[in-house]
Amino acid sequence: NLHRAAQVVTAQYGGQFPADLATVLALPGIGRTTAGGILSAAFNQPVPILDGNVKRVLARLLALAVPPNRALPRLWQVSEEILDPQQPRDFNQALMDLGATCCTPRQPACLLCPWQPHCLAYQRTMQNELPISETRAPLVHKQIGVAVIWNEQGDILIDRRKPEGLLGGLWEFPGGKIEPGETVEDCIRREIQEELGIEIEVGDRLITIDHAYTHFRVTLNVYHCRYLSGDPQPIECDEVRWVTVAELDQFPFPKANLQIIEAIRSAKA
Ligand code: SF4
Repeated sequence: NLHRAAQVVTAQYGGQFPADLATVLALPGIGRTTAGGILSAAFNQPVPILDGNVKRVLARLLALAVPPNRALPRLWQVSEEILDPQQPRDFNQALMDLGATCCTPRQPACLLCPWQPHCLAYQRTMQNELPISETRAPLVHKQIGVAVIWNEQGDILIDRRKPEGLLGGLWEFPGGKIEPGETVEDCIRREIQEELGIEIEVGDRLITIDHAYTHFRVTLNVYHCRYLSGDPQPIECDEVRWVTVAELDQFPFPKANLQIIEAIRSAKA
C-alpha cells in the first residue's frame, strides 16, 4: 500500500503529498486516522484522529458503556469537538501521548492527568474497567432505590449493614434493587417495609448517583421520604438509628453514600 500510495503521489500530484482530506483518503492504504495524523502533523490542519490510544482516552472520559469500536461515530465526533483548531498538530500529538504515557491500558496515572476533573471514568472509579473490551460481557448494572427517611423532628433513619459481604459493617441509607417492572417509588416503599418494617411516603428525588464496583455498576436513585408509621427494626441489617444531619459524619458510610450526605446538606442549606 505504501508503495502504491507513493506511486500515486508521484504520478498524479507531481511528488507533492496532497494536503486535503478527501485526496489523502483516496490514497491506497490510508484510512481516516492515518489521514488525520498526516494532515495535522505535517500540515497543522484541524483534522481529528482516533487511534487505539485516543479511543481508550475518550472511552474513559465519556465512561463509554460499550466497546469503543461499537461507538466509532460518537468517538470521531468527540475527537473533532475537542480538537484545538489553533494548534491541531500539538493537540493531536498530546492526545496520543496522553494515551501512551498517562491513560495507559492498565493502572492509568489519573492523579497526574490534566483531564482528571472532566473524566467520567475517574469520577465513577471505573478507569480500570474501561474501555469495555469486545470479548468481555458488559458490567452488570443494578438500579437501586434509596430512601432518605425523615421523621417529624428532622432526623434521618440510617442502618448498618451486616458484617459479612460487600461493604459489611458500614452505615447506609436504606433501600434495595429495583425489580423488573417496578417504579423507583414502589421499590423504595417495598424495600423499607421488608427491611425495616415501617411505612413511608416517597417524596421528591434528591439525587441520582452512578458508581462502579469491580464487577458491577450501580445507579442509586435517592428520594426524600417521610416516615409514617411502625417501629424501625433491623430485619435485614444489624442496626437502625435516627440521627441528625450533623451526626451523619460520625458514621462510616460507603463512598457512594457520601454524595448523598452532601446532597442532603445542600438541600437543607
Ligand atoms: S483521569 Fe485517568 S482515566 Fe481519565 S483520562 Fe486521565 S488518566 Fe485516563
